Amino acid sequence: MLELPEVEVLRKDLEKEVVGKRVKDVAVQTAGIVRPLHRNRPDFVKALEGRKLDAVRRRGRVLFLDLDEDLTWVLDAGDQGSVHRETANEPPGPDTHLIVSFTIGGALHLSDAGDEVTARTGVVPTAEALEAAGVSPDALDPLDDNPTWMEFGRFLHSSGKQLKLVLTDPEFILGIGPVYSDEILWESGLRHDRPADSLSTQEVRRLYRAMQEIIHTAIKQRGSSLDDTEAETAVDDEGGVAEHLRVYGRTGEPCIRCRRPIVRTRIKKGIYTYHCERCMI
Ligand SMILES: [Zn+2]
Repeated sequence: MLELPEVEVLRKDLEKEVVGKRVKDVAVQTAGIVRPLHRNRPDFVKALEGRKLDAVRRRGRVLFLDLDEDLTWVLDAGDQGSVHRETANEPPGPDTHLIVSFTIGGALHLSDAGDEVTARTGVVPTAEALEAAGVSPDALDPLDDNPTWMEFGRFLHSSGKQLKLVLTDPEFILGIGPVYSDEILWESGLRHDRPADSLSTQEVRRLYRAMQEIIHTAIKQRGSSLDDTEAETAVDDEGGVAEHLRVYGRTGEPCIRCRRPIVRTRIKKGIYTYHCERCMI
């Protein structure tokens, strides 16, 4: 699964490697990923093949690759998918849905092992790209928008939700999913079910600082631990967790702040949180 830090690392790598180059070949294994932006696979392939890449942008977890002629290639790995850089001759795996290769060599593979593939891609006019990607125009990107803690506080307050739910709601905050929301809450010492409007000024500042720190640290970690061809995610396909994660996926392991075992709690259908019952209040 990809969240903001992993997509930002990917964006930076692609910016270095493919801007100024062209798309060579496009292979779509799963027709569903090009809908609703295209009628069918050939329509998407035709729109992307041969195009020159001018810039690589990101909003939340979605990549926007600007092409010539004011077009943009939108790439969203979905709730469980991932995007990997691969060598040009790497064969597709069983869960690979899209392969795009570049004239300089190298390719992008989009994979998703979920039961229901939520990855989406398409080529659209640049002016319509955000809307086509379903990115809420009012939501906050914690890295790109670089809000002040007071702006962030007003945002939280207006949500009327519990902290875990507001952090992971793309109508409010973009790019934070199950992994980094738990990490941010642990870092800030705040419980997942605290109503967002119950936070004191000090707690808002703590949450804000934790959010910035966790995102920046994760980008640094992913950026420094990657080899040339493979972008790892914080949680791999086998559920193994990266070393820099403090609570996510660590049920039963001692909290590194207070030694009490980390627990996993169901919030609602399909949404769980890993947390410490002692030092998160
Ligand atoms: Zn603890």
